[in-house]
Amino acid sequence: MSKKTPFEFLDTARRMPERVPLSLRKQGDWSELYGRFDGGDAKHQAGRCLDCGNPYCSWGCPLHNRIPQWLELAREGRIHEAAALCHETNPLPEICGRVCPQDRLCEGSCTLNDGFGAVTIGAVEKYIVDSALADGWRPDLAAVTATGKRVAVVGAGPAGLSCADRLARAGIAATVFDRYESIGGLLQFGIPSFKLERTVMATRHGILEGMGVEFRLGVEVGRDVGFDALLADYDAVFLGLGSYRYTDGGLPGQDLRNVLPALPFLVQNGRIVIGDDTQGRAIAGWEDEIALPELRGRHVVVLGGGDTGMDCVRSAVRLGAASVRCVYRRNEANMPGSAREVANAREEGVEFLFNRQPLALLGDGAVSAVRVAETRLGEADARGRQRAEIVPGSESELPADVVIISFGFQPDPPAWLSTHGIAQHDNGRIRVTGGKGDGGLPFQTTHPRVFAGGDGVRGADLVVTAAYEGREAAKGIAQLLLA
Ligand code: FAD
Ligand code: SF4
Repeated sequence: MSKKTPFEFLDTARRMPERVPLSLRKQGDWSELYGRFDGGDAKHQAGRCLDCGNPYCSWGCPLHNRIPQWLELAREGRIHEAAALCHETNPLPEICGRVCPQDRLCEGSCTLNDGFGAVTIGAVEKYIVDSALADGWRPDLAAVTATGKRVAVVGAGPAGLSCADRLARAGIAATVFDRYESIGGLLQFGIPSFKLERTVMATRHGILEGMGVEFRLGVEVGRDVGFDALLADYDAVFLGLGSYRYTDGGLPGQDLRNVLPALPFLVQNGRIVIGDDTQGRAIAGWEDEIALPELRGRHVVVLGGGDTGMDCVRSAVRLGAASVRCVYRRNEANMPGSAREVANAREEGVEFLFNRQPLALLGDGAVSAVRVAETRLGEADARGRQRAEIVPGSESELPADVVIISFGFQPDPPAWLSTHGIAQHDNGRIRVTGGKGDGGLPFQTTHPRVFAGGDGVRGADLVVTAAYEGREAAKGIAQLLLA
């Protein structure tokens, strides 16, 4: 490989992999939007890295990935070494490379953002790991010695999978329980396939099994197996339960026909897309599966501007909606959804109505309109976000055949947590210690042998933060069991 020049970023522009053509997306193509770099592209894009003395990208990544080092290995074509280095900090690198909002994290911190365009960190991460795995590379646990310790992991989402990965690397046998028949949590049944194809999860399932992780799928803890039994049979337990109680906003008219909550809409649609109805069980909290109305040729309004909202609008485009509008109560700069996803949605024809507060859903039997009012930004709230204040006399009606409500999620802790002395915050998030001077181990709950992480601890957040907490909790468990 040629010697690296510090000014490659001047000769090579930032470029993402090719995307599925817009016309196909609008005709209902559900395949992953971004393709994969070929080897030459990946080397050139990786070679744009300045290798700053202080890698801001690594600080911007919740996992503190060793980004400049694996970019350099990719530039040199040393893909197996790069994949091994990716896995040192990230248990799910090919997944994060696909779904992280990089513009807010690693790439948002890249020095080249200063007018040149950030290094395409996520796309190179995906390239490295996909290529190595396709080439037969697998994590090497040959030097790991079994400790004889056993841990039950409840939840096969990114938090649980990351914890299981790190436990296996520490020689601790992990058994992962999930109520669904497939691993991945929201990666499997929430995030649409145009962001993450299901084959990616199937490959990761095989890798984890190859590392010795055991899966007990289709088993709900608290129903099919008691939490008491886990405490009796295992040395410790990790809880990666996720966050599934949805916020409906309490809008008048939300019981009208064709008003849908976001996650059941995405889940049901996702199953139809992949022709899979084998999951068998409704999502926790929504015991009845929803009947999906026909979206083709209809006017769809999505309420909410987060990642889930972006997945809803872009799914509606692929389902052939005549128009898709996204209503958000603050301005674009305050939108929680990734800027890249917003740009993709806009390109796919989604209209964004910023500074609009939904007041009521109108209709006779079925929804026919959304009453909205304009907003302006006022005082900052406790989290520093400016409140959206309604502008008096600004009400109007938006025609709508289908309304999808995407206002976010809160944890919905099962009753057996409290029964076993596992304390929660008022909003249902499981309490954990940070391990930094507060007397506890990382991500230890108020039960000394139970640890927790991911959305069940943070509230609805990101795959990468769930992976971080699963990874760190495994360290806490190892400290407890192997001290
Ligand atoms: P989950 O992924 O929710 O997994 C929890 C698992 O626990 C589930 O499989 C559940 O079945 C299982 N479980 C719960 N209770 C039990 C029990 N009693 N017994 C057995 N199993 C149980 N994040 C991003 O970074 N990028 C994105 O693009 C993105 N898009 C998203 C799109 C949508 C539609 C949604 C809803 C979220 C999105 N997120 C995204 C957020 C991300 O998916 C979550 O933050 C992440 O999945 C949380 O991981 P987790 O492991 O904590 O929980
Ligand atoms: Fe960026 Fe996410 Fe990869 Fe970290 S894990 S380097 S934030 S894409």
